[in-house]
Amino acid sequence: MPAIRILDPSVVGKIRAGEVVERPASVVKELLENALDARSTLIAIHTASHPERLIRVQDDGVGMSREDALLALRRHATSKIESADDLARVRSLGFRGEALASVAEVARFTLTTRSADEITGTQVEALGGAIIQVSGVGRAVGTTVLVEDLFFNTPARLRFLKSREAEIRFLTRVVWSYALAYPRIHWKFSVEGREDTDLPEARDLSERWHVLYGRGSSDGGEATLEHEAAGIHVTGILGAPEQARASRDHQTFAVNGRIVSSPTLGAAVRQGYGNLIAGDRYPLALVLVEIDPELVDVNVHPTKREVRFRDEARLFRMVRGAAEIAMRRYVPVGIALPESPGAERPAGSAAAYAPGPARESAVEGEGALMLALYAPPGADEAAVRDRDQGDLRESLSEPEIPIWQLHERYLLAPIRGGLVVVDQHAAHERILYEEARASLFGGAGSSQALLFPRVVDLTPPELDALLMLEPHLKRLGYDVSLFGERQVAVRGVPALVPENAAIDSLKAVLASVDTLGERGEAPEEHIAKSFACHAAVRTGQILNPVERRALFDRLFATSLPHGDPHGRATYVRVTMEELDRRFGRR
Ligand code: ADP
Ligand code: MG
Repeated sequence: MPAIRILDPSVVGKIRAGEVVERPASVVKELLENALDARSTLIAIHTASHPERLIRVQDDGVGMSREDALLALRRHATSKIESADDLARVRSLGFRGEALASVAEVARFTLTTRSADEITGTQVEALGGAIIQVSGVGRAVGTTVLVEDLFFNTPARLRFLKSREAEIRFLTRVVWSYALAYPRIHWKFSVEGREDTDLPEARDLSERWHVLYGRGSSDGGEATLEHEAAGIHVTGILGAPEQARASRDHQTFAVNGRIVSSPTLGAAVRQGYGNLIAGDRYPLALVLVEIDPELVDVNVHPTKREVRFRDEARLFRMVRGAAEIAMRRYVPVGIALPESPGAERPAGSAAAYAPGPARESAVEGEGALMLALYAPPGADEAAVRDRDQGDLRESLSEPEIPIWQLHERYLLAPIRGGLVVVDQHAAHERILYEEARASLFGGAGSSQALLFPRVVDLTPPELDALLMLEPHLKRLGYDVSLFGERQVAVRGVPALVPENAAIDSLKAVLASVDTLGERGEAPEEHIAKSFACHAAVRTGQILNPVERRALFDRLFATSLPHGDPHGRATYVRVTMEELDRRFGRR
């Protein structure tokens, strides 16, 4: 490592200045980054239970000469850059020579260090920025920085600290982020009286990831991320959809080894999950971007927490594309998630599902599937042929993957990482609910005319309800008219729903009018739920292979396939790892 020098004022002027030390977590971050820049292989972090009272970071890096140790506490003293040009090429985590000076200024500060060229080490003690003692000490090559009584001379900042728990959470997050991004480093982390972690050098990202998120196993069901194009290399790990959390706290992004917060990367990852997780959840993610330093500006934020990319849109597309590819592991074989437009992906990838916005054609194409979904084996052959869809049906009758039905309730299919189990009723409910909403809120859904109108008896309250809901029912595809005093004639029902189920759900919708608006829902919402619940295939119904396949295809084309309209799960995944464990294979 080159010697430390004081930066030229012209260079200093180009550096984004500001508050470096906001809280104990910022101290930890700066000290860690220094230890990493010093090519350490072991980094040990210790804090008191009130972290502002004591933070110690110890490393086995290159250390400093006595001369450097004294210079290191000065402002703009750095060994990492010299000129303004270096700023554009910076590879190290530090470059401003401000961290040690800023920390030393607001604390009691002790630096102990030895470089390989020296026989004795140096200890420098400072109080509020002033060096009060320098002495020789015996120690191994490396550096230890001890920070005590942080903000003792700036009580205002002390008051700004959050609770002890919150401060510990912040700094734990810093340590874990770096530990995840640097698996080859042996990390030790302890918080007095609570936390004591030892993370010996790991082989790779996955091994380290498992310690934190894998519940101690070697396959927690996560997906790996890998993509390289145009000089940008993206690697990382994405948690299984069911591991998604309610906050972003478990998303770690690093750019050229620097942990950053990046809304762009966060959004790209989220979009890559598509509809595999609910809209208000955040996947576990570790994304490392290696990029030519000239294509990224690290000098935009005083704490270097944010970076700016030359071509943000491209990086976004790349990460989203890579995440989409990684997510295939969670989708049943042969079923493609709806693809986002403009995703960068290798040639020959699975064809897009294309859930066209054109509902008309969607109904045409999927109509046959829906019919198939309902048709008991052998029935409706004529109707299918009449529609000239015979060949489509035939081609679907040999699905390329087996889908089994279990106890007339669940559908089972292999997926890349194991097995998926779909609840047939809940899944169909999700499908019909989304279609009903589209008809009710958007244009009218298509209707199928009944060959023979069905005459249905209604009670007076049901008749009242009918009058009230008429316009909605029409949009759903019902064609109902009065027929005698207490009877209606149903001449048309929503397309793709078999007659009996359609009549049942009509009655259910009329009966549910009592609770209309109870939960502050729009009537359309209420009707869609009630309709879907009663029109969906029941538990206990046998589905043929074509119907099973149709249910899978359609479920994974909905916007939220993981839950039915009431929030219950529509499917669960069982990983190979879980099976292996139960069979005692590991
Ligand atoms: P910067 O990291 O931006 O250069 P710092 O104030 O954090 O600024 O550190 C100043 C200098 O002190 C660094 O450039 C480096 O030469 C030296 N230094 C700091 N911490 C360590 C460490 N743990 N091991 C070796 N050298 C260090
Ligand atoms: Mg630094």
